[in-house]
Amino acid sequence: MMESFVFPGLATRVVFGSGTIARVGDEVRRLGHGRALVLSTPHQHGEAEALAASLGDLAAGVFAGAAMHTPVEVTERAVAAYRESGATAVVSLGGGSTTGLGKAIALRTGADQVVVPTTYAGSEMTDILGETKDGEKTTKRSPEIRPETVVYDVDLTLTLPVGLTVTSAMNALAHAMEAFYAPDRSPVITLMARDALVAFRDGIPALIADPRDKAARARALYGAWCCSTALGYVQMALHHKLAHVFGGSFDTPHAETHTVLLPYTTAYNEAVAGAELRPIADAFGADTAAGALWDFATAVGAPIGLSAIGIAEADLDRAAEIAVKNAYANPRPIDRASIRALLQAAFEGRRPEV
Ligand code: NAD
Repeated sequence: MMESFVFPGLATRVVFGSGTIARVGDEVRRLGHGRALVLSTPHQHGEAEALAASLGDLAAGVFAGAAMHTPVEVTERAVAAYRESGATAVVSLGGGSTTGLGKAIALRTGADQVVVPTTYAGSEMTDILGETKDGEKTTKRSPEIRPETVVYDVDLTLTLPVGLTVTSAMNALAHAMEAFYAPDRSPVITLMARDALVAFRDGIPALIADPRDKAARARALYGAWCCSTALGYVQMALHHKLAHVFGGSFDTPHAETHTVLLPYTTAYNEAVAGAELRPIADAFGADTAAGALWDFATAVGAPIGLSAIGIAEADLDRAAEIAVKNAYANPRPIDRASIRALLQAAFEGRRPEV
């Protein structure tokens, strides 16, 4: 029998294709704005300036200071630049760091956001903002955080280095994995999560062979949209919590942290949610979902094992302690000993057993 569900509807307008960056100006005007501040990281400053130049009078300037984990001191400088520029909207060009800065500005000023994602991290469709202050990361969920419009342009992802292509895809797949067993899942989200598996399964090996393969880039970016939507419309559980523990308390790099944890968090929950996670095993033709993700990660040369992100075996006790501090919903109950065992397996990096 069909499970009952509630689906809230998708709140964000999406423009997807090749060359779509040329439509950013129309999308800003469509939202009723005459001035928008363009945001980027220092690394993508050149691309942000080029976009601002193409926007002409619509561009109120460029702020190219976005940084990983949305530090509040950067946001404060960006909000000052935003107010001074006379903008009423932001255009966030880049990965999750730049999208995060746009969300932080929107939350404080009411700015509308047009996001142009250039990685597969998947922040653009969500109402989630993680911010850091004095070394502590806090996460908020609120409707004002969710971007109004997302312009996906495949051409902008052609320059994504192979290493980040792989870890960013694993980051996206983590959103799909947790969507399969989320208590508030619905058929639309489950369908998108299933489609994302196929998109990345086929797209990533092709991109390793040729990072500028446009058809494969389009598949991967489509997968990222599906995964971002999944993250934005259901609750996340153990996997995202653990990634947050390592990113927040051990300062590990975001996409790599998701990558090395994913097979082991999947195995932990697959023990009780085998039926829900079956689509992952099926999509990859493997015996288990956790095994499928480990096989895929290994085949595409992803980092394996917690030592790959600078974690020592001596850190595992403290990580387990932090991970069980606050309660949250998860298919399998969480206790310190089980989480410590999960972390040991993730440290050793062998193919997980379910
Ligand atoms: P990132 O945005 O920090 O980008 C990494 C680096 O790659 C940057 O220097 C960036 O300029 C560069 N880059 C991006 N796209 C490129 C391209 N196409 N070509 C060449 N270089 C490119 O990394 P990320 O993994 O996309 O984002 C991580 C951040 O996103 C974290 O802070 C994380 O917390 C956040 N995030 C938030 C959510 C959410 O819903 N709130 C979801 C996922 C990630």
